[in-house]
Amino acid sequence: MKPLDAHAHLDMDRYSSDRSEVLDECRSLLSGVINPGRDPESNRESMRLQEETDGFVKANLGLHPTATQDFDRVEEVKRQIEKNSTFAVGEIGLDHHHVTEKDLRKRQESVFREMVETAEKKGLPVVVHTRSAEERSIEILEAYDLTGVYLHCFNGRPGLAQRATENGWKIGVSTQVLYSDRVGNIVEEIGLENLVLETDSPFLYRGERNSPVNVLESAEAVSEILDVPETDVVEETAGNTRELFDLEWFRPTIKSVQTKHQIWFSKRSRTR
Ligand SMILES: [Zn+2]
Repeated sequence: MKPLDAHAHLDMDRYSSDRSEVLDECRSLLSGVINPGRDPESNRESMRLQEETDGFVKANLGLHPTATQDFDRVEEVKRQIEKNSTFAVGEIGLDHHHVTEKDLRKRQESVFREMVETAEKKGLPVVVHTRSAEERSIEILEAYDLTGVYLHCFNGRPGLAQRATENGWKIGVSTQVLYSDRVGNIVEEIGLENLVLETDSPFLYRGERNSPVNVLESAEAVSEILDVPETDVVEETAGNTRELFDLEWFRPTIKSVQTKHQIWFSKRSRTR
């Protein structure tokens, strides 16, 4: 079976000259790519990618914590989420690394809360970016009743990763696992059960432009760290991603999702 990339930004300009080649390579090696939007324009581009690739790329819609210039466009993003019936709200979160000013951090937190409330109301999981604000993000998220939480590209203390997995949340391990001991330690701490593979393309690949296909390298690295077969890493992390997002469309292999898929399929044939 093929792995999938649970977090990439193929809508970004860094792919404008060769996006279709990148996508062709992804199609041959992966079962899918999830592309979270960061602001109203990026949300639109992500939806466009979803349409153009017949759902091989799947869009989440959100408002990124560093998109400070768009913080007054929360209502617009909410309307996008409503209108496009997305399957997750993201990318949202807290970033105290890039945003240092006190009032702006307050604003960032209220935007985050509004987006989390939207997800709670709609029964959708959230895709969370948290940098230098891991504990605060976890505290906030714990106050809501969410169907799923995905801490993407997690770099916090392994103890916090543990706390998140005890909540049943998923931890995104990016291609940083290829070179970061910190991320390696997180993998050791949490094991495969709640782990999701992602690249965060175009970022986080030894200074070069990243590509979703590099999850294959990550799978190899995780298999070495945990001393388990690479096929197990691919199966389990893809299964975790499907479970988190309730995704029927990435050709399910794990039993529980297979059942869901069959139900969905029989519903579909009934309505014909
Ligand atoms: Zn991202």
